[in-house]
Amino acid sequence: MDDIEKTISTDFLREAVQDDLKSGRFQRVHTRFPPEPNGYLHIGHAKALTIDFGIARDYQGKCNLRYDDTNPVKEDIEYVESIKEDIQWLGFNWEDREYYASDYFDQLYEWAVLLIKKGKAYVDDLSPEEIRQHRGTLTEPGKESPYRHRSIEENLDLFERMRAGEYRDEARVLRAKIDMASGNMNMRDPVMYRILHEPPHHRTGDRWCIYPMYDYAHGQSDSIEGVTHSLCSLEYEDHRPLYDWFLNELEIYKPRQIEFARLNLSYTVLSKRKLIKLVQNNYVDGWDDPRMPTLSGLRRRGYTPEAILDFLNRVGVAKNDSVVDIDLLEHCIREDLNKRAQRVMGVLNPLKLVITNYPENQVEEIAAKNNPEDPGMGTRIIPFSRVLYIEQEDFSEDPPPKFHRLAPGREVRLRYAYFVKCVDLVKDSSGQITEVHCSYDPETQGGDAPDGRKPKSTLHWVSAPHARRVEARIFDRLFLKINPDEVDDDQDFTANVNPDSMKVIKNCFVEPFIDRAVAGDRFQFERQGYFYIDPDSSTGRLLVNRTVSLKDTWSKIQKSQT
Ligand code: ATP
Ligand code: MG
Repeated sequence: MDDIEKTISTDFLREAVQDDLKSGRFQRVHTRFPPEPNGYLHIGHAKALTIDFGIARDYQGKCNLRYDDTNPVKEDIEYVESIKEDIQWLGFNWEDREYYASDYFDQLYEWAVLLIKKGKAYVDDLSPEEIRQHRGTLTEPGKESPYRHRSIEENLDLFERMRAGEYRDEARVLRAKIDMASGNMNMRDPVMYRILHEPPHHRTGDRWCIYPMYDYAHGQSDSIEGVTHSLCSLEYEDHRPLYDWFLNELEIYKPRQIEFARLNLSYTVLSKRKLIKLVQNNYVDGWDDPRMPTLSGLRRRGYTPEAILDFLNRVGVAKNDSVVDIDLLEHCIREDLNKRAQRVMGVLNPLKLVITNYPENQVEEIAAKNNPEDPGMGTRIIPFSRVLYIEQEDFSEDPPPKFHRLAPGREVRLRYAYFVKCVDLVKDSSGQITEVHCSYDPETQGGDAPDGRKPKSTLHWVSAPHARRVEARIFDRLFLKINPDEVDDDQDFTANVNPDSMKVIKNCFVEPFIDRAVAGDRFQFERQGYFYIDPDSSTGRLLVNRTVSLKDTWSKIQKSQT
């Protein structure tokens, strides 16, 4: 039965919540999203927060934003701010419930004292290394610390003095007294408090020099906030007995922890520790680099919240881990932008095309659809003239088989305009083609020939005298392997970083409509993909990021499977 349940990817979390409401275990739904402010949110966190906020919304409940800020060494206010921005961007709202585990440090301390008084916690003088050695292994029980049987009075005194700052870091810790022989390593007298004199905490300054560990802080914070369902990823499953142990021993209100599978994406790392490394070692240009799987990176790449939510919805909520194909994410953004993106013509690698029989100085205004998927978006005017730019790759002097684009003697259609036929080439002294000369057929205005002939391809183009220059960034996967962690023993995941993950093209040409673009706008460059106007753009220097190309490998995969 368990097995069957595990394979069902329908929402077992919502079923559990419903059961609890039905049975009366809880009369309301209250969740929380508990990020540690030690990095920017990535798309895995988006999954977690969509579950937390989404379930609260579905059951007319509430969801708190709670920063799990128990480790001042790694945390920073910059992260606090970015996390809020990202949650709001996805469309979720914690209203006035912005909480911090550090708000509860006094209460947590009192409860620790209570556990000492119950004989359920003790101060241990072993070093971190000795504690590790005493812990045992999965197959061998741990060894009790020689300090485990201190008197309650001595423990109270030592803990008080830990707090007062009398000891250096690592000199002592407070541990829960549970069971050093437990089959669950988390239950072998886990550390509850450690000493950390530096740096000051971003909220409590230097008021504290002892800090609660995650496992001790988390459940009690849930309890204080009246959380009903504490939803977290699968790696906390083995922590649940400890979560329950603290709440039971303290005899306080008890939320229910339920675990779900983490999101893993092919060709992607989703761990703040690794993402930090990419940033710090300059593999990328910051947390919001468009190649990053962070929400700020995806945003800067041009992803919409709708596409991300659609993706997470399709992935669903499962009880066992799997790796999701990144093509699915790209499919979702394509589908979304196809419906809403303004079309323009833009040439990434320009090649000059001169129409030798077109009158000099003549400019025609050609009407083009802004979005063939949405007639409501109307039309725009594109100037057409004698000298145009086309894509270098749309011309071949010596076309290979199946190359149906422009070649000597061949006729193609220029999108919305005319048929043109290549009649000549101009090369520079190095043999490089600098111009393609064509003749056009005035009878084909609008893209159709009266005699019904049909060229095999339609090219996009930009009128040279009207072209606007933009700088484009074209991205490839950041990692070369499906699983970036697959490396030799002496390497880490950075060995799999793709050295060609970003190509900068300085001189792309786009039709004049692009003058209206402001940072944050999205366009489809016909035949080239979807582009996002980067916030670093300035007047006269438009920077565009390619969100995704038009080639949809995901729908191909799907078609081949049906
Ligand atoms: P990371 O490994 O990236 O540092 P974390 O779990 O340490 O992740 P937290 O800030 O503690 O980061 O995470 C906040 C919440 O997001 C937690 O409830 C955690 O379970 C969840 N979460 C983190 N990564 C993922 C993921 N890849 N898929 C789903 N949920 C995740
Ligand atoms: Mg964590």
